[in-house]
Amino acid sequence: MTQRIVLATGNKGKVRELGDLLSALDIEIIPQPEFGVPEAEETGLTFVENAIIKARNAAAHTGLPAIADDSGLEVDFLKGAPGIYSSRFAGPEATSSDNVDKLLATLKDLPDAERTARFQCLLVFMEHDKDPTPLICQGSWEGRILHQRQGEGGFGYDPVFYVPTHDCASAELAPEQKNQLSHRGQALRKLVEAMKTSN
Ligand code: IMP
Repeated sequence: MTQRIVLATGNKGKVRELGDLLSALDIEIIPQPEFGVPEAEETGLTFVENAIIKARNAAAHTGLPAIADDSGLEVDFLKGAPGIYSSRFAGPEATSSDNVDKLLATLKDLPDAERTARFQCLLVFMEHDKDPTPLICQGSWEGRILHQRQGEGGFGYDPVFYVPTHDCASAELAPEQKNQLSHRGQALRKLVEAMKTSN
C-alpha cells in the first residue's frame, strides 16, 4: 500500500524539490497546508532542533508520519549567519528578495575569496509525534556569494549562490541538476536509504 507522509513545510521551493526527489518511491507526499497544519514556531538554536520541532508539529496535527526540512545559508564572512535565520534575515516578514538584497548590501565590495558560503539541509523523518528515534540526515553544498543576482530558477538565495563546479548560479541550474548537487538532494538520498533499512 502506498505510504502517506506529510511534508512539514508550505515553502513552495522545498515542496517542489522534495516532491521531485521522492516521486520515484511508492510514497504519497502531502504538504502540510493541505491539512491546515499551523506553522510551528522555530524556537531551536540548531537546524536539527528546528527540523524535529516542525516534523513533530506536522505529525501531531495529522496523525501521519512526517518529513521536515530545516535548511539555510552559512556565510563564512558573517561567521555562519544567516544560518537558521536564513528565511528571516531581513526581518520577520521578509521576502526572499529582501533577504537577498540585505545579503548583497552586507557583502558589498567584499572580494570573491572572502565570499565563501554553503547551504545546509537537515531532514528529519518521524513515524509519529512521540517517535523517540527520528531519522536525521544532513547535506551541505559549498559555493560563494555572487555580487549580483543571476538566473531565474530555484528559490531563496539561489540567484546569488555561485556553484564553482558548474560556473553558474544555483538559480541557473536545471531543477534536476540542482537536485543532483544540492544540500537537499544529498540529505534526501541519505534519508531514503535510512528509511529503507529502518523497516
Ligand atoms: P527554513 O524554512 O527555516 O528551513 O528556511 C530555509 C531558508 O533558507 C529558505 O527560506 C531560503 O531562504 C534558504 N534556503 C534553504 N535552502 C535553499 C535553497 O535550496 N536555495 C536557496 N535558498 C535556500
